[in-house]
Amino acid sequence: MAPIDPQPGIMDIALYQGGKSKVEGVTNVVKLSSNENPFGASPAAKDAVARSVHELHRYPPTDHEDLRRAIGEVHGVDWERVICGVGSDEIITFLCQAYAGEGTEVLYTEHGFAMYRISALAAGATPVEVKERDRVTCVDNLLDGCTDKTRLVFIANPNNPTGTMIGMAEIERLAEGLPDQCLLVLDGAYAEYVEGYDGGAKLVDMRNNVVMTRTFSKLYGLGGLRVGWGYGPRHVIDVLNRVRGPFNLSSTALAAAEAALRDTAYAEKCRNDNTRLRTILSEALAEHGVPCDTSVANFVLARFADQQEAEDCDLYLQKQGLIVRRVAGYNLPNCLRITVGDEPSVRRVAYCIGQFK
Ligand code: PMP
Repeated sequence: MAPIDPQPGIMDIALYQGGKSKVEGVTNVVKLSSNENPFGASPAAKDAVARSVHELHRYPPTDHEDLRRAIGEVHGVDWERVICGVGSDEIITFLCQAYAGEGTEVLYTEHGFAMYRISALAAGATPVEVKERDRVTCVDNLLDGCTDKTRLVFIANPNNPTGTMIGMAEIERLAEGLPDQCLLVLDGAYAEYVEGYDGGAKLVDMRNNVVMTRTFSKLYGLGGLRVGWGYGPRHVIDVLNRVRGPFNLSSTALAAAEAALRDTAYAEKCRNDNTRLRTILSEALAEHGVPCDTSVANFVLARFADQQEAEDCDLYLQKQGLIVRRVAGYNLPNCLRITVGDEPSVRRVAYCIGQFK
């Protein structure tokens, strides 16, 4: 029997190859490739996970009310307009399922996060990439890229993999200039690393065409439990809740996320340590002749002379037991993205890059 074909577009999605981090024959391997919190989750979150084992036989709550209320309190947003998902990946998926589809376009920049394209294709929509020379001109590029078929425009702020940030005035200009049928999605996966930044929550409150996505995978150190959330106008959250499965988040994940969120002292400590260590890392790399983009996130984008040098350095680091991320797939062939680790890892990666040079 001939294989049954999937929907058009599905086979254009490349199988995910990242996250594999095996280095043979090297001990003391450090993974600096997935922008994880090197200090781990808050002790309060770990306790919550331990307590949750007593409820494993129960289905989790479907409305996520406790976590949404906590998000409302800690982030100063209206909890009734919060939706929780299996990582912010799932919120991106919901947005594409609900708003994109055959005959529509989903827009993002050439250095935009990989899930935008995957979710667009999976929903049957056409992904459209615009150029991005830097984070100021990309707003014009996105506006120019809109057509009457564009339904979603994704922009991560701070951006992955550059780590750079675009000012709110520019984001507002983007929201203002979009065609009527189009939603702006502000992806704030790294927003918590920027002190005082609300990820665009106030803009969401001011407009009816802006949605924000956030995650517990980065500053809160819960990548393994997969919890993210979205914040948007009431009508958008209502739509997204219709495509959300009733039990999408486990009770363990919900409990851990709420505990992590409420441990604000731990989150603040992680943010401050990240800022300090990021400076050490980027200054050391610059001294070794490898400039980094000005990052406000928990990683730096190291720019090498050319693709060959970036690949050689990546292999050299692997042999030293250091795993960083090649970002050629983001149209940045001469770059490596390096997560800000704990202090020994930061010093080790800086030292090894110095040796390589
Ligand atoms: N957006 C951006 C920009 C990211 O870098 C990531 C994680 N790499 C995500 C969204 C998704 O994160 P998660 O699904 O773990 O919340």
